[in-house]
Amino acid sequence: MKNLWTPWRMSYIQGQDDSANSCIFEAGMGKTHEKESLLLYRDSLTVVLLNRFPYANGHLLIAPSCHESELDGFTQEENLALISMTRNAVSILRKHLQPNGFNVGLNLGAVAGAGRPDHLHFHVVPRWEGDHNFMTILAEVRTIPQHIEQTFDLLLPDFQELLNSGGINK
Ligand SMILES: [Zn+2]
Repeated sequence: MKNLWTPWRMSYIQGQDDSANSCIFEAGMGKTHEKESLLLYRDSLTVVLLNRFPYANGHLLIAPSCHESELDGFTQEENLALISMTRNAVSILRKHLQPNGFNVGLNLGAVAGAGRPDHLHFHVVPRWEGDHNFMTILAEVRTIPQHIEQTFDLLLPDFQELLNSGGINK
C-alpha cells in the first residue's frame, strides 16, 4: 500500500477538515490570490475560489467579500459586483476551457443544498457535450486533485489582469 501514499492527496483531505471549521471565503484574507486555498481573486467586494469539490473542471465559487447569507443583506454596489464578476468568470472560463455551456446557480440555505449556507455564493460550472456520462464523471473524480492545481495556474493570470485593470467594473 506504500506506493499509494501521495502528499497532494493528503493535503487535499486535510484541507477538507480544516475548511469545516472556518469560512472558506475568508481563506487567504488580505491576499488577492493564494494557491493553497484555491483563491483566484479577492478585492473589497468579491471573492473567487476554485471549488475544492468540483462537479466539473473549472467549477468556480463566486462570493461577495462580505460574510452574509441572504440576498437582501447586500448593498447595490455589492450586488452589481457579484453579477459583474460572474460575467467575467464565465468569460475567462470560456476562453481557457472552451465549454459548450454553463450552469450558474445559487443555493440559499442548507435545505436547498448549500454546503456553506452562512456565506452566499454563486456556483459557475462549465458544461461540455456528453459530460453527464457516468464513466466520464468517475474518471474526473479520480483525477480532479491534480486538475485543480493545473486549472488554478491556467486561470490565475486572467483574474490578476482583471484585478490590475481596476477589478470587476471595467
Ligand atoms: Zn464568510
